[in-house]
Amino acid sequence: MGKTYSPVGIKKILVANRGEIAVRIMRSCREMGIETVAVYSDADRSSLHVRYATEAYHIGPSASSESYLRMDKILDVARKSGADAIHPGYGFLSENSQFARKCTEAGIKFIGPSAESIEAMGDKISARKRMIAAGVPVVPGTTEKIADEEEAIRIILGIGLPVMIKASAGGGGKGMRLVRKEEEIKPAIRSAKSEAKTAFGDDRLYIEKYIESPHHIEFQVLADRYGDAVHLFERECSVQRRHQKVIEETPSPIMTPEVREKMGACAVAAAKAANYEGAGTIEFIVDDALNFYFLEMNTRLQVEHPITERVVGVDLVREQIRVAEGFPLPFKQKDLKMNGHSMECRIYAEDTDNNFMPNPGKITHITEPMGLGVRCDGYIHEGYTIPIYYDPMISKLIIWGRTREEVIERMRRALYEYKISGVKTSIKYLLKIMETPDFRNGTYNTHFIEKNEEFLNSKVNCDKHCEDIALIAAFFEHASRLQVVKKISPHERALSSLKGWKNLGRRAGMLRL
Ligand code: ADP
Ligand code: ADP
Ligand code: MG
Repeated sequence: MGKTYSPVGIKKILVANRGEIAVRIMRSCREMGIETVAVYSDADRSSLHVRYATEAYHIGPSASSESYLRMDKILDVARKSGADAIHPGYGFLSENSQFARKCTEAGIKFIGPSAESIEAMGDKISARKRMIAAGVPVVPGTTEKIADEEEAIRIILGIGLPVMIKASAGGGGKGMRLVRKEEEIKPAIRSAKSEAKTAFGDDRLYIEKYIESPHHIEFQVLADRYGDAVHLFERECSVQRRHQKVIEETPSPIMTPEVREKMGACAVAAAKAANYEGAGTIEFIVDDALNFYFLEMNTRLQVEHPITERVVGVDLVREQIRVAEGFPLPFKQKDLKMNGHSMECRIYAEDTDNNFMPNPGKITHITEPMGLGVRCDGYIHEGYTIPIYYDPMISKLIIWGRTREEVIERMRRALYEYKISGVKTSIKYLLKIMETPDFRNGTYNTHFIEKNEEFLNSKVNCDKHCEDIALIAAFFEHASRLQVVKKISPHERALSSLKGWKNLGRRAGMLRL
């Protein structure tokens, strides 16, 4: 089949999302000369994505079920504003095949794969079957939904404990249960089933062998509509809490060039088997011996995509748009190289001392980190109130450096510079992770947080704590010295006190390093 390209330029994109990802998508659009349309709920009237866009439309009340999940309202805005395409971001409607189909029917390009690809990969049971057919290793387990508890027990004992009972429709760490003992099987099935029913309206379950000391390593892929696909290397995402990622980095500290090549080839085969178009992610679970198994495919842009952008030097949103316009991929696999190391910390408005309870509220002060190797993808500003209705992630801090060691030190510096007042954030907790030996040594797996729980939850953050004490001590020492100096005017005293405090403070700050 000869290749004929007939790209159609996109002039205006509706971004069906909010928060940092909506702003991030609009940034690439601006660079490409594409106009943007924002949609917003009541709670987001003053949000940055609304101000950043070329045009903005109100679509309903704060609850996402009445706004960001309302396909009809979003499509109405697309028609009204004359948008050629819709970018769904992540979460919300990004993996909703019905929405992709409705966009196509309305003559609006959905920036992502076809509805058929989303369906094939979004359902984990059907994705497993397709991967087996494509020769991609999957976690040993079932390829049909389990019929009843008795059958489940028989199958599980056949596979051998421990196993994971998982929802076919699962996502966001929901509908998944680890079972180590026979007597846990029935209760685990019941609770996974009811959680899946509530979260996804679909309670089909399947069984996977539990991989011990697991690493979550995923590959970024890009595919065009002409059947070409490449991978953009891996992201290590094993720092997880409740099966949700906290920190991601690339390259993975455990990767070897040989395994990278094999996994990359499987990721490309997986994308081709799904007739994939656009940017996607193939997630693998990897054991200590570097055996790897397909876990699932995320058919959208991933939260952690910026670390890949930084190391490979590719703007993934730009490539998504180019592919959606009908251009072929601008590079071949051999053109892509990794340069240095990158790491992302997800910054949440949450109380890490109180079971990570979301802590939305008004931002009274914010200073974001800057400088060499720092990228901060956020959307909040002073005076902004973080709404209670959505994910409490407020920004992503992305660091680049030549080596992993350099990145960790730079991340510590940037986290130290990052000041947010008004709401509690995960910044201090992330600093503690940077100080944890297992993390620093790169010898961690998905059990990292539970294994290091005591250290991570210990109240005193040495760095911050010592620094604060040093500052206070320096101030008092200087103030007491001033009192013995006579013949100094109150004005001079105030000035010299301020200067001395600053200098001592600086020195105290330097002691920390
Ligand atoms: P990533 O690997 O990109 O972090 P996640 O699975 O954590 O992917 O999901 C990204 C975003 O989508 C998060 O904000 C998450 O809360 C949301 N999300 C994922 N799956 C679901 C789901 N099934 N229902 C609702 N929100 C989801
Ligand atoms: P979700 O769709 O909710 O993201 P995944 O299938 O991607 O679900 O799994 C999320 C996380 O759960 C993985 O990153 C891993 O930590 C853990 N996990 C899932 N399946 C297994 C398994 N078979 N063995 C060990 N850990 C697993
Ligand atoms: Mg996953």
